[in-house]
Amino acid sequence: MVQEPQDFHEFMPNEVWKWKILEEKIEKVLSLHDFQEIRLSILQDSQILENGIMALVQGKEADSAMKGVLSLANPEDKLSLLSLRPEGTISVLHNTARIANPGDIHRFYYSGPMFRKVDNNQQMEFYQLGVELLGSDSILSENEVIDLGIKLCKTLGLNDVRLELNSYGCSNCRRPFFNDLHKYLEEHKSEYCLSCYNELSANPFSQVHCKDPKCKKSLAEGPLIHNYLCKSCKADFRKVKSIQANLGNQYKVNPLLNKNFAYYNKTVFDFIAQNAGKETVIGGGGRYDYLSSLITGKNIPAVGFYLNLDTIFDIMESQGLFATKDPEFVVYICAESPNLETMTLQIAQELHSQQVKTIISPECKQIKEEIAIAKQNKCPIMIILREDNLREGKVLIRNLVKEEQNYISLKDTLSTILLARKSMQS
Ligand SMILES: [Zn+2]
Ligand SMILES: [Zn+2]
Repeated sequence: MVQEPQDFHEFMPNEVWKWKILEEKIEKVLSLHDFQEIRLSILQDSQILENGIMALVQGKEADSAMKGVLSLANPEDKLSLLSLRPEGTISVLHNTARIANPGDIHRFYYSGPMFRKVDNNQQMEFYQLGVELLGSDSILSENEVIDLGIKLCKTLGLNDVRLELNSYGCSNCRRPFFNDLHKYLEEHKSEYCLSCYNELSANPFSQVHCKDPKCKKSLAEGPLIHNYLCKSCKADFRKVKSIQANLGNQYKVNPLLNKNFAYYNKTVFDFIAQNAGKETVIGGGGRYDYLSSLITGKNIPAVGFYLNLDTIFDIMESQGLFATKDPEFVVYICAESPNLETMTLQIAQELHSQQVKTIISPECKQIKEEIAIAKQNKCPIMIILREDNLREGKVLIRNLVKEEQNYISLKDTLSTILLARKSMQS
């Protein structure tokens, strides 16, 4: 029995054409904004990755932070321990730090498979788009990136996409918040489950998915960064909201908008879309001005976001947003006897030179069968090669739409096919 892969991405042609539409639309928008694609290796050096992830989670235990990374463990070969990339920001920062000069602005994107280990050690592959603007800490760059994310979603047909916004402040306003949160956590330790307590102690911005109503209540009643923003962070956040509103982007401030990574500062955001009557987070991001110096030693202010392409694909599929493909003009070529291989391929070559798509029958079947196969493949035209016709310099062309056929001179094959294409496409 053929087993279907569970959490790995394998796509057959009936889905690949949709992925191509999705990717082409994304690329067009990104190129319009001068974002350039970078291609990152799927294999990552585990040590570099671990150092990067330590900076992402800021303070959590290395072991628990690396728990979600899929490593190609080979105890015999400790020198070259490799992992499958779980995200792209770490590599982007390393690559940018190598080439960046002070004052440089880089607009990069990458997309493709990412890998993680989820609960009960299950391996998971998912497709992600990452967009990063590196080298500027301006309000303008931040809003350019947020607006670009919204535009991408709308271009894909997700017109109801909206923003959720929060601000994580700067290093000045975060310090008193972290102090108060830790104090609050100690005082209310009994109101949290152990996992939430550990999670929040390590990362005050942690997105805890705990279902325990007690934890949820304590979290909402505890200190929120929102109330700790300094004057300039407050003013900046106000500006972000007004710019997004003026651009016509729907937003909601969510003081409980948290991220799994503590490295963000200033504006953080999620993109929310409707999926089968439910609100779904399809991507998100934020500013991360302090991360590069932790990972690369070079100070590169940056802002970026990810889009979960699998979720977006599913939404587009369920909302019928992939236009059905136009029927193509494809010519079916078959020969009634062997020994006509060269002739068959020469005719195909001639048609390809004029961008006419062909299907070549690899077997010499009965003509009735060949017609049936041509019809199955929705070919409007068939070229049938027979030795006796060819001796007279002729070839048989059958029109499967009109159910008629004609012998024509071999040298007129291409022009006859082009004429047929023209009449069928007009
Ligand atoms: Zn501040
Ligand atoms: Zn909990």
